[in-house]
Amino acid sequence: MQVYIDGQFLPQEEAKISVFDHGFLYGDGVFEGIRAYEGRVFKLEEHIERLYESAHHLMLQIPLTREEILENTLEVLRRNELRDAYIRTVVSRGRGDLGLDPKKCSQATVVIIADHISLFPREYYEQGLSIVTATTRQRGADTQEPRIKSLNYLNNILIKMEASQAGAMEAVVLNARGYVVEGSGSNIFIVNKKGELVTPPAYLGILEGITRNVVIELAMEEDLVVREQPFTRHDLYIARECFLTGTAAELIPVVSVDRRQIGNGSPGPQTRLLMQKFQQYARRQGVPVYPQEEK
Ligand code: PLP
Repeated sequence: MQVYIDGQFLPQEEAKISVFDHGFLYGDGVFEGIRAYEGRVFKLEEHIERLYESAHHLMLQIPLTREEILENTLEVLRRNELRDAYIRTVVSRGRGDLGLDPKKCSQATVVIIADHISLFPREYYEQGLSIVTATTRQRGADTQEPRIKSLNYLNNILIKMEASQAGAMEAVVLNARGYVVEGSGSNIFIVNKKGELVTPPAYLGILEGITRNVVIELAMEEDLVVREQPFTRHDLYIARECFLTGTAAELIPVVSVDRRQIGNGSPGPQTRLLMQKFQQYARRQGVPVYPQEEK
């Protein structure tokens, strides 16, 4: 596997970063997870934009232009002859000393990796996931902005560990006020008893997912009522349908939460419709990796 690292394409065994890199020492950096479907990179510009927004908040200077990031992303896919892939773009603060001060790091490290990913086994997309709510709470939006996709994913890892300790594939997290916010690496939607599609608003403390925003658009195209509105665990338990969204997860139905069955215990009609729409949409869109194929 060829990896992009600081201006070079190297075999993965040779792609190394310094132990003094503040991404490694302190989680000081940002990243994106991106997908390619059938030779096109889905929402690549949006992911690059979010990478730059996260970096801007952290005053982290990315030593490449947006176009260079885009071109290098495509090149990583080409060098690995990939058409369907998961791409991880990481910008860390770079090599510094053992102190916290980012000013000691003269140049950010940029890494782009492309590989395959399968977050959940295929059968769960058919039968739906059983999930739990985590006791770990979301970090407060007033202390750490959740829209920064930073290298500090400890809270998410704790949530994921709680899921596996409970024998579940995923867990959802509540914020300090008890509202449902998101999964360990995904956003959440429910269909309420009025048939409305409800997802937590960005201000509640979520990563504003690119998949989430696509699903909202697709639902509106289908004339579904979409509400970005806070909801509680009770609303989740009595929901008619529930699903999670994310670049890695795509759309995955949820059929039980904390052992309460959701709807009739199998993926509901709105979930199925949006899963199908999403798959069609994702394959029509995107930046071509192999432009000669487009002719
Ligand atoms: N929420 C969290 C915490 C995430 O890590 C992710 C995925 O990266 C998402 C939501 C979904 O975001 P997206 O659809 O942009 O991948």
